[in-house]
Amino acid sequence: MAEPNKAHKVVVLGTGGTIAGTSAQPGDDRHYRAGQIGVDQLLQHLPKLPANLVLVAEQVAQVDSKDMGPALWWQLRRRVAHWLAQADVVGVVITHGTDTLEETAYFLYATLPAAKPVVLTCAMRPATSLAPDGPQNLRDAISVALHPGAQGVLAVCAGTLHGALDVQKLHTSRLDAFSSGDAGVLGKIRSHRLFLIRNWPQASVKYSGSAIENIASDADWPPVDIVTSHAGADGLVVDALLAQGVRGIVVAGTGSGTVHHALEAALLRAQAAGVVVWRSTRCALGPVSPAAQRLPDAQGLSPVKARIALALELLTCSPR
Ligand code: ASP
Repeated sequence: MAEPNKAHKVVVLGTGGTIAGTSAQPGDDRHYRAGQIGVDQLLQHLPKLPANLVLVAEQVAQVDSKDMGPALWWQLRRRVAHWLAQADVVGVVITHGTDTLEETAYFLYATLPAAKPVVLTCAMRPATSLAPDGPQNLRDAISVALHPGAQGVLAVCAGTLHGALDVQKLHTSRLDAFSSGDAGVLGKIRSHRLFLIRNWPQASVKYSGSAIENIASDADWPPVDIVTSHAGADGLVVDALLAQGVRGIVVAGTGSGTVHHALEAALLRAQAAGVVVWRSTRCALGPVSPAAQRLPDAQGLSPVKARIALALELLTCSPR
């Protein structure tokens, strides 16, 4: 917890994204490359940093977050765990692309005990924009990391604080691209001050133990895929996945989690063959109905988060 007169150390881990993106023509917000500027540079010229704040920058990766995946997640998780364990570190901020921010946030939430804040932040405009949103988002994320009592895995974008479990990118281009859906946002940040609306999320490290700690590489990640139900769906993709040795499938169902009968038949075949199948919804918001469905639901997780949870479940719970 941040105390007023003590020096506070916040560690900022860079992973790339639009926040570190540059365009050939300054001001071109459409044609740019994500993940170009170092995180140490992003920290320069941030407004009104407290005098007792010590910022440490570390570049963990430099990618467009469309290319984020398990290998980088494990690496990032190790660095976050390392820094959180230092007594003088009050929190960790992670700069990240918006496209898969919710997946990284969920992965960290599900695997890492975070009694201190771990705040992911991002930008919808590159650093070379005439009005970049990255510096404000980064400054806001630091404010959250310094906030007394802050804890858990969080996300900051456009003056809004989200929890890892609920946050999702809903808009392709709006500066305020994220939503926390029906759960609602955790808070708002104005002029470097956080106004909390809901309580800090309770840590819920569902997946832990040696299977998580001893992960050596990408290859340990079990194959889990997402298939979508839609009008005219069939079972071809599921049969192909089964032939390729898939171990888990998340079906993004229609509406409240219904599945086209032909696709459902294929999923039930896969389930009978030992593949773990979870049912989510392709709708951005709202619950999945457990009623009258033969496939278990994903406990409120979106398809992309359910895919991570299912992979972790297979990694930690089932015989290998
Ligand atoms: N493609 C970028 C990324 O996710 C988009 C962004 O950061 O807004 O890295």
